[in-house]
Amino acid sequence: MTTDLTRMTIAEAAAGLGRGDFSALELTEAHIAAIEKARALNCFITETPDIARERARASDGRRAKGETRGPLDGIPIAVKDLFCTEGVLTTAASHILDGFKPPYESTVSAKLRDAGAVMLGKANLDQFAMGSSNTTSHYGPVKNPWRGSAGKDLVPGGSSGGSAAAVAARIVMGATGTDTGGSIRQPAAFCGIAGIKPTYGRCSRWGIVAFASSLDQAGPMARTVRDCALMLTPMCGHDPRDSTSAPIETPDFAAAPGGSVKGLKIGIPAEYRMDGMSGEIAALWEQGAQWLREAGAEIVEVSLPHTRYALATYYIIAPAEASSNLARYDGVRYGLRVPGESLDEMYENTRGQGFGAEVRRRILIGTYVLSAGYYDAYYKKAQRVRALIARDFEKAFEAVDALLTPTAPTPAFGIGEKSDDPITMYLNDVFTVPTSLAGLPGLSVPAGLGAQGLPLGLQVIGRPFDEETVLRVGEVLEQAAGFSALPEFVTEG
Ligand code: GLN
Repeated sequence: MTTDLTRMTIAEAAAGLGRGDFSALELTEAHIAAIEKARALNCFITETPDIARERARASDGRRAKGETRGPLDGIPIAVKDLFCTEGVLTTAASHILDGFKPPYESTVSAKLRDAGAVMLGKANLDQFAMGSSNTTSHYGPVKNPWRGSAGKDLVPGGSSGGSAAAVAARIVMGATGTDTGGSIRQPAAFCGIAGIKPTYGRCSRWGIVAFASSLDQAGPMARTVRDCALMLTPMCGHDPRDSTSAPIETPDFAAAPGGSVKGLKIGIPAEYRMDGMSGEIAALWEQGAQWLREAGAEIVEVSLPHTRYALATYYIIAPAEASSNLARYDGVRYGLRVPGESLDEMYENTRGQGFGAEVRRRILIGTYVLSAGYYDAYYKKAQRVRALIARDFEKAFEAVDALLTPTAPTPAFGIGEKSDDPITMYLNDVFTVPTSLAGLPGLSVPAGLGAQGLPLGLQVIGRPFDEETVLRVGEVLEQAAGFSALPEFVTEG
């Protein structure tokens, strides 16, 4: 029974709860037991079994009274440890937030809680969400539940690595992620699950530890496109506490999958065929286009000429905003404090010891590109190029309804690989960063296994606030791919 309860999709579990096949508490207990057996993966920074049991009981109570709050009521999920959770340790995977228990709940996690979702714990991540491998966490790396034919310990991707690994290992049914330059989509691809970064402004950023405020966006990660759609609806909505939250209605995203793509025009950006992309990913991309063609879509080549500048632009803008956002960690009001002889020395000690190496690198880069002598040459120029990148997409979307690209240039790599070469690490984001700079929705769909037996993802990009088309195209790909493989962790234990 335990196994069955952890193998379902959210949609199946919601139906089972509705029929009374099992209770929310039974579902939660099965997942708590699964989490205990999966500690070697290091998916969680904090497990919250007591909160989970309490919420599961409350969900069963509502169901008994006919007051169920929808498909997420009673569903066990993980919350990335970048979302502030009231009274529950929130670390951003950094030493500098030691002991920080926020007195408030982020909007997105509050909305999920209010929809009845059961939080099992706070998922591990790259420190301050900076990374593509979950190896920059102060709480240690997360292991991908997939080991592939080489039988190696692999990264789950990042920064939402704990969320992705937990969903793939069947120890939670869904998870929240955040995506600044790819942190939902790339780990989803590496772990063989689905994940969508909605349009910038769809989900409130209030209560999410800030990395780069003009890029940060929350989104769901789950085992199917439909499950992502079920989670996404309650996560969205206008929030007056976030000035960049879009004042627009949230559609019922769960109604989007299942539709046809007949007559849709899908663009293939020519510039995404780049050096360094593995042959199997190029082949899968071609296969994805073929699947959509067979489903009645028209495949059109489009051009996004400024793509080649996207990584350089992102790695100026994101660190610039990070250096400003992270100025607040001074050891005075909350988190770590390392004493010193003077106030300045206390700041230096706290920030020097509290931030990890990658975070320090970004603060240094960000401070440099914002400094008086270099602001125009770097930051201002990057903002201009960002506008050109966004315009490329606008032009492309005059001719097509969605774009199809790979999610990442390679499958999951070994833990420790690429860690001493930041540029190689940053190249992971080459297909996800342009979408982030343009603020567009992007979905990663598990689309196949590569030669090493590792999952590969395809990305669907849509017009602003057109997540529905993205989900629809994504589900058609998902069904054509018929991805049903399970990671070694689940099949071998
Ligand atoms: N990997 C990218 C980075 O390191 C993206 C991270 C993210 O989306 N949070 O910045």
